[in-house]
Amino acid sequence: MTVSPAIVPVVAKKDRVLIVGATGFIGHFVAEASLAAGYATYLLVRPGHISQSKSASMKGLQEKGAVAIYGVINEQELIEKILRDYEIDIVISAVGARNLLDQLVLVEAMKSVKTIKRFMPSEFGHDVDRADPVEPGLGMYKQKRLVRRVVEKAGVPYTYICCNSIASWPYYDNCHPSQSPPPLDQLHIYGDGTVKAYFVGGADIGKFTMMAASDVRTLNKSLHFQPPTNLYNMNQLASTWESKIGRSIPRLVITEDHLLSVAAEKVEPRSVVASFTHDIFIKGCQIFKPDGPGDVEIGTLYPEEKIRSLEDCFEDFVLMIPPEPTSETKKTTELIRESGNNNSIITE
Ligand code: NDP
Repeated sequence: MTVSPAIVPVVAKKDRVLIVGATGFIGHFVAEASLAAGYATYLLVRPGHISQSKSASMKGLQEKGAVAIYGVINEQELIEKILRDYEIDIVISAVGARNLLDQLVLVEAMKSVKTIKRFMPSEFGHDVDRADPVEPGLGMYKQKRLVRRVVEKAGVPYTYICCNSIASWPYYDNCHPSQSPPPLDQLHIYGDGTVKAYFVGGADIGKFTMMAASDVRTLNKSLHFQPPTNLYNMNQLASTWESKIGRSIPRLVITEDHLLSVAAEKVEPRSVVASFTHDIFIKGCQIFKPDGPGDVEIGTLYPEEKIRSLEDCFEDFVLMIPPEPTSETKKTTELIRESGNNNSIITE
């Protein structure tokens, strides 16, 4: 008699991911990508009042299957309980600049539960062990470096996401530049405008982060984003934007000295962004070969995977430009101005 083998249903087990900071700028891209990749996605949400836009974005993620868990990363007991109760495999943190050191408690919690297969701390920028901006950017990098050292010492498996610049106009005083279209009146060119940088779309930052999260080749490595198609200097960026909108825009050189003086003002967040702008477009901190023993690069790891071009990302910004006022609206505005009363609308 022959015995047929037992049929065991094969269920592809996807890791369970806890994302910290999904109500934030970068965290939202990561949460979207985690859901799109089919991970069981849990979002750690700080309790308390959240703005209407953050609550709408959370609702959108929950409708796609994310589970919200309320808590903060700097409460060790609570985090240990969450990691155990939800059997979390991967933790991704996208806390903002002000809360980087809260991650030290999170690392203690992960060290204690011993079950975390991968941790991605809040990096999402430059390789902080290589880049060396002036203050106050340097202070932030020192915190990110400290988190790295504590993670390594704790023996928590990690990947550092070094995704370079977000694909948008790199305003030197705006920490979330992809929320604003490039300028229409004047284009600021840093230095001689020839130093290049890599520009990566937010959705691609999320996508490659999630591909790396359970990839054995990124274990205890820094993952660099250096897509050659998205390597631009300021002069090229300006020409690309001008060609998108079909007209040229006056250019103004922002000197190295000016960037350094804005950095020296120590006004947050503008001085931090100015110090990074100096590091990127004057010193060229993104231009190096990621060929050290701890480096991997997305193009080498995922050669088949498409990356959205900067040209394409700029199309989104064209759609954000308000339409030119019609002759009718222009006439109304004139009448308001002439009447000297900005509160009342005069119609013909
Ligand atoms: P945001 O300030 O937009 O968001 C931070 C998120 O972290 C929010 O959801 C916030 O919650 C949450 N959070 C903060 N502290 C805690 C805590 N203790 N416990 C739980 N949740 C917490 O951050 P960004 O997206 O600007 O920054 C994230 C990372 O990305 C940083 O490392 C930053 O340097 C980098 N970055 C990179 C950019 C690039 O161009 N490459 C651009 C911008 C950022 P709440 O909603 O309650 O405030």
